[in-house]
Amino acid sequence: MNYEGMFEVAQHIIQEKRQSRQFICPGDTVCVLLTKSGNFYAGTNCKSMQMGRIFNAHAELQAVQNMLSAGENALSAVMLLDLRTGQPFLPCVQCIGYLMSLNPENYACQIVLGKDTVTMGDISQSMYSAYSQNAQSMQNQPLMMQNVR
Ligand SMILES: [Zn+2]
Repeated sequence: MNYEGMFEVAQHIIQEKRQSRQFICPGDTVCVLLTKSGNFYAGTNCKSMQMGRIFNAHAELQAVQNMLSAGENALSAVMLLDLRTGQPFLPCVQCIGYLMSLNPENYACQIVLGKDTVTMGDISQSMYSAYSQNAQSMQNQPLMMQNVR
């Protein structure tokens, strides 16, 4: 599949942000969704202050809100780019989980990483197994300490 259109949408937003002279923080992102019906929806991350702490709503959230408002939820592809460098990277595990929860078919949605792609289903399986292995080794630690005593 040709994901050129997604890059064009993202580049347009990156240009707008740069021309607005708005300060772009490290870690600011743009997300572009391509739905099964061939429409693009985009969003950027949004920082706010809540209870004295900085809350960063990931770019995927705004893109999803735009998509849901238009009555769509079936994804063909997702792309996440750094606003400063334009480099693609993987959405976080929470965003992948959220995108997959919108429609059961979204496990087959492609994450576009430059010329390479990976399905959300494949990446979430490896992410969750890495997470559960970590959680398990952390659970084992206090037991090992008890054994030493
Ligand atoms: Zn995220």
